[in-house]
Amino acid sequence: HVSKLPGSPENIFSKMSGMANRYNTINMSQGFPGFQTDDYLKELVYKAMKDGYNQYAPLAGVPELREEIVKKIEALHGKKYHPDSEITLTAGASQAIYCAISAFVHPGDEVIIFKPAYDIYEPIVKTNGGIPVHIQLKGKEYTVDWNEVKAKISDKTRMIVINTPHNPSGTILSKADMLQLENLLKNTNIILLSDEVYEHIIFDGEKHQSASSFPELSERAIVCASFGKTFHNTGWKMGYCVAPDVLMKEIWKFQEIIVFCVNHPIQRAFAEYLKDSETYLSLPKFYQEKRDYFLEQIKDTKFKIIPSAGTYFQLLDYSEITSESDILFAEKLVKEYQLASIPVSVFNINNQDLKQLRFCFAKENETLDKAAEILLKIG
Ligand code: PMP
Ligand code: GLN
Repeated sequence: HVSKLPGSPENIFSKMSGMANRYNTINMSQGFPGFQTDDYLKELVYKAMKDGYNQYAPLAGVPELREEIVKKIEALHGKKYHPDSEITLTAGASQAIYCAISAFVHPGDEVIIFKPAYDIYEPIVKTNGGIPVHIQLKGKEYTVDWNEVKAKISDKTRMIVINTPHNPSGTILSKADMLQLENLLKNTNIILLSDEVYEHIIFDGEKHQSASSFPELSERAIVCASFGKTFHNTGWKMGYCVAPDVLMKEIWKFQEIIVFCVNHPIQRAFAEYLKDSETYLSLPKFYQEKRDYFLEQIKDTKFKIIPSAGTYFQLLDYSEITSESDILFAEKLVKEYQLASIPVSVFNINNQDLKQLRFCFAKENETLDKAAEILLKIG
């Protein structure tokens, strides 16, 4: 048979985590928190199970949870989504992204994707017959050239994908960026897919600029979010998307045939847990302390650092240490130094320009200490 997705089933995250296990290394490659999710939240899941919420949930999700999420979005971004018709709980943000692209991208449609990009957007576009149109983010600070975006928009452009805070670079889109985007998209019928899974992991007093808070973006946006990143439970695969009802209706048709609904007791638990906003508003401080701790430990190395502005990822530039490719250097770090990271070039258009590795700093301080000791030895 001819594969619809040529290449290996093993992506870079599985590859590096697999190597980390084989070589028994410190694993700062695949992005997941090294901390336990709150015991109280686990108890709420158990309680929901004991209370009998063990059968299918409604297709769009548990009403109480939908209410809590739309209230939270209104409080943070001033946009009121309708809890009955403009939100869907999904199996992680991944399924929301899958549904959003599948529902709207027809064969021959163009989808603008900024590179480096999280690795699932492009294959989903392609398996729907869409054509990815790449735009490389510029320089070591990974900024958007909006003139280039304007030039790449055509009458075939169906969708544009943004991700802020950005994996893997740790950069964020500013209010000025969002206004530029709003200006380019108004009076078009282009759909915006806004991947905001790291919305609560943002530093230095910056405010997350959600597509939902810009009126002419929110009317065309599908905003995707993930509880896994926010509440240290990536393995629960619970996320959601919000969008205007005309778009959500189409997403529901895909929800229905892919999963129908997602984990019922976990949704019940989050409906209760989200009532305390401290559970997510405390995150910027928590992760900024992690970032700063890690950067302080490695300040005497030869790695060049632009502090991450958001996400739990930090890029380190090793160009003063070696001219090796990032793939070879990442493999060497695993095999010879017992430290696993992610080579960033695999998500870029032009592979060889940047000498950067991505490190996930969502780890206990003792793990960060051990990683820093290794990085000090290398350079
Ligand atoms: N988008 C980005 C940018 C991510 O980093 C991730 C998680 N790695 C996802 C989407 C998928 O999130 P989830 O695990 O909730 O499916
Ligand atoms: N999003 C995580 C990362 O960027 C990993 C997700 C995955 O393993 N597919 O590392």
